[in-house]
Amino acid sequence: MNQQYDLVIIGSGPAGATVGRFAAAGGLSVLLVDKKQELGAPIQCSGAVSRHALEEVGVPLDDEFILEPIYGFAIYDQAGAATKIDYRKLKEDEYGSGPGRKPLGYVVDRRRFDRFLMTQAERAGVETWLKTEGLGYQPTEDGRCDVFLRRYNEKITVSTRVLVGADGLMSQVGKWAGLQTHIKITELAGCLQFIVDNVETEGLLEIITGHEWAPGGYAWVFPKGHGYAEIGLGVIPTMTTHSAQWHLDKFIKQSFFKERFKDSRILEVQGGGVPLAAPLRTQYADNLILVGDAARHVNPITGGGIHTALSGGKLAAEFLIRHLSTPGVSCAAAELKGYQDDWLQALGDKMWKLYHTKTKVFHQEDIPTRDAYLYQTMSDYFDPNSEYKKI
Ligand SMILES: Cc1cc2nc3c(=O)[nH]c(=O)nc-3n(C[C@H](O)[C@H](O)[C@H](O)COP(=O)(O)OP(=O)(O)OC[C@H]3O[C@@H](n4cnc5c(N)ncnc54)[C@H](O)[C@@H]3O)c2cc1C
Repeated sequence: MNQQYDLVIIGSGPAGATVGRFAAAGGLSVLLVDKKQELGAPIQCSGAVSRHALEEVGVPLDDEFILEPIYGFAIYDQAGAATKIDYRKLKEDEYGSGPGRKPLGYVVDRRRFDRFLMTQAERAGVETWLKTEGLGYQPTEDGRCDVFLRRYNEKITVSTRVLVGADGLMSQVGKWAGLQTHIKITELAGCLQFIVDNVETEGLLEIITGHEWAPGGYAWVFPKGHGYAEIGLGVIPTMTTHSAQWHLDKFIKQSFFKERFKDSRILEVQGGGVPLAAPLRTQYADNLILVGDAARHVNPITGGGIHTALSGGKLAAEFLIRHLSTPGVSCAAAELKGYQDDWLQALGDKMWKLYHTKTKVFHQEDIPTRDAYLYQTMSDYFDPNSEYKKI
């Protein structure tokens, strides 16, 4: 007989590791697989995450993965005028580096962060198989499903009650179930960032708007710790005839920051895709749910997906623990819909609103109007009174 689990999770990123940790702690038997041979590598992320996001899912604020504390934001318009939101000034008794004060968030090392989350998951009881690729799944007559895996070079089938697709932006798991996972090229940002030295930063996430620098997205300068910084941008390929690399070179050499960047040396190059898309309309099927980037649980304004992967992962696990311990339930699609309902209520409705806001900005044909609208939207988003600031 095939090995049997309550959950099989495909993907060891923040979403998969969090589902696994909470589900195993709640008594479910969990197998988590990833096709990678090294957790968290290669890094395809800038690693900005709020303190609230970590605390909400019980991730200790550990120096093991924290590179730099963050105290606020600076949002720039195309010409370099800035809105600065520095919590060290806004709430000086609460935020800062002194005793009794805290940061607003962090830049984390994604390699170490992913390993840390997986260690937490393993300590909670998750069994992990690396170098194991998910190939497909098939519901079976006993109400469970078979999951087809390739572990090293060997094909293995395991049996589970629910398969969790936490397999990221290029997710195949949803496709196996026939879910509409297609992402429009107009909503897929191509991102590139350089890790550099010799660039001063001041504990803020800096966000630079303007079609001139990053058509369809924005550029960023994030502190990286140890005197390093991340300079990056994301562009929508249908809004430019040039590559992300071309835009990043231009931003570094020609923007209002060119003096600031002139002595920088590129130490590392990282890149990847970010879906600036709506959440999937259907995130469940027979014996299957999707979480994290695989379900497009990504903030469509900022492109941030760590917080939503963590909180969506916890929410998925809580639903599954409840559902699988209820006598007589099945794991048919109609019964797993409750997961999506919970998610919409907790997070998804706000993410849909953000998506509509983002769409309105980028549907502006006139570039100066669009630039002004994006700058205002970003400034409003990061405003301390924003209803969205905790997504
Ligand atoms: C350049 C860049 C910068 C970013 N910066 C930030 C940021 O500063 N802050 C932020 O919040 N977000 C950021 N993001 C987004 C963030 O990285 C993602 O939203 C987040 O990693 C999503 O987590 P996840 O667990 O859903 O998926 P992932 O972290 O992508 O993990 C998916 C895992 O699934 C595995 N997998 C895929 N297919 C299979 C298969 N068939 N079998 C087995 N394993 C499989 C992969 O190997 C991978 O390990 C950035 C993204 C990019 C590209």
